[in-house]
Amino acid sequence: MVDTTTRIAVIGGGMGGLTAAIALTKIAGVQVTVFEQADQLGEVGAGVTVAPNAARVLDRLGVLDRIKQLGAVPDGHGVYLDAMGGMVTDAAWEDSAKQYQNIGMYRPDLISALAQAVDPDTVRLGHRLSSVETVDTGIRVRFANGMDDVVDAVIGADGIHSVVRNAVDQHPEPVYSGYIVYRGVVDASRLPADWPMISQVWMGNRRHFMCYPLQQRKLFNFVAGIPSDRPLNGPWSGPADVSELAAEFAGPDWDPQLQHFIGLIDKTFWWGLFDHEPLTNWSRGPITLLGDAAHTMLPHQGQGVNQAIEDSMALATFLAEADDVTDIPEAFRRYTAVRMQRTAILQNGSRRAGAMFDAQYEFADLTKRDADIRVGRDFRRSAVFDYDAQKVAEHALNRFRKVVQFT
Ligand SMILES: Cc1cc2nc3c(=O)[nH]c(=O)nc-3n(C[C@H](O)[C@H](O)[C@H](O)COP(=O)(O)OP(=O)(O)OC[C@H]3O[C@@H](n4cnc5c(N)ncnc54)[C@H](O)[C@@H]3O)c2cc1C
Repeated sequence: MVDTTTRIAVIGGGMGGLTAAIALTKIAGVQVTVFEQADQLGEVGAGVTVAPNAARVLDRLGVLDRIKQLGAVPDGHGVYLDAMGGMVTDAAWEDSAKQYQNIGMYRPDLISALAQAVDPDTVRLGHRLSSVETVDTGIRVRFANGMDDVVDAVIGADGIHSVVRNAVDQHPEPVYSGYIVYRGVVDASRLPADWPMISQVWMGNRRHFMCYPLQQRKLFNFVAGIPSDRPLNGPWSGPADVSELAAEFAGPDWDPQLQHFIGLIDKTFWWGLFDHEPLTNWSRGPITLLGDAAHTMLPHQGQGVNQAIEDSMALATFLAEADDVTDIPEAFRRYTAVRMQRTAILQNGSRRAGAMFDAQYEFADLTKRDADIRVGRDFRRSAVFDYDAQKVAEHALNRFRKVVQFT
């Protein structure tokens, strides 16, 4: 185990960076400093699903109980519906052992639950990273506020437009997918009393609408995916008119229940969806990536944060094996080898899920689309929700140890 004098910087205090800070402290026994550009830790006022594969990690990190107190576990499985509300199939919502379920979280609540588990003295707010440079004594990180520091290792959890990613390799930037989402929340007390407390997805022609409960069922999250040629060379999110959103799901081809839900929305904002081909490398020496910085993915499988949480556990498991600072690059290489495969599958799967929800490409035939969605449900439970990031990292470590013995 590296000693406590080792200086590790996590760039970004989002959901990925904070989980990494918790995992590195609890599992690898190292203290990190989190550098966040914003003046306070926070998130957009929308929802996110903590899936069973991440709930398993958060349980081992001791934060799941708090997350469950703040979130909403649905009544049962979700549903995929056609545009008129007809059932296509049920959706996976728990792991095969029925131990962990999906938890709907209001994003600010998830950040606050994670932040409570991080020593506040280790978080530096108002520090926007501007450059990363290798120097004789380590890695120099410079910030827009004029501060700089030299550390032994850097973990880039700085999101989709990561600065740290450029220090790892000359990777292409994420690209706009041609879709935007409208996002927001509805006060659940305004919904009809028999509104199902589950996740529902209505899938129509080139658009879909999803909703699920949050915050002990006081709020309902919504996400509506729509094709858009909105130019994204400026901002890639902003406030939007509810009437714009309502017009996308108006008319006799859409379920009146859905239209009722949309009628209860007071406020919404739009968000450009970006996609990224899996990167060919996440690490360079003692610099590595985690979360969206490493694997920006479309949100259609609800796995972006969940993968960042898996990354954090895997990274901490590999780092726990490092005896001193000189072992960190090898720990990062091992982490990268294991995580790149897992997240590439989910990046590709998320693209495919979006194409299905929105009846694009070969799914223009809705009968085939619906059959594919039924097959995807079982894959999701076994391949996504049952995955144990810590066990996979430990098995990989054993294999790496055997290889080292033979060489
Ligand atoms: C509509 C939608 C719905 C989604 N739903 C889900 C879902 O249900 N489940 C799920 O798992 N995922 C979901 N996602 C994806 C998820 O939101 C992201 O994958 C997740 O936020 C990534 O976390 P992160 O910590 O890697 O990056 P971010 O959340 O982007 O955090 C990065 C942090 O780094 C900071 N930062 C950035 N640049 C710098 C810098 N230069 N210096 C210092 N700090 C910096 C930022 O301020 C931020 O705090 C959804 C995404 C969208 C768009």
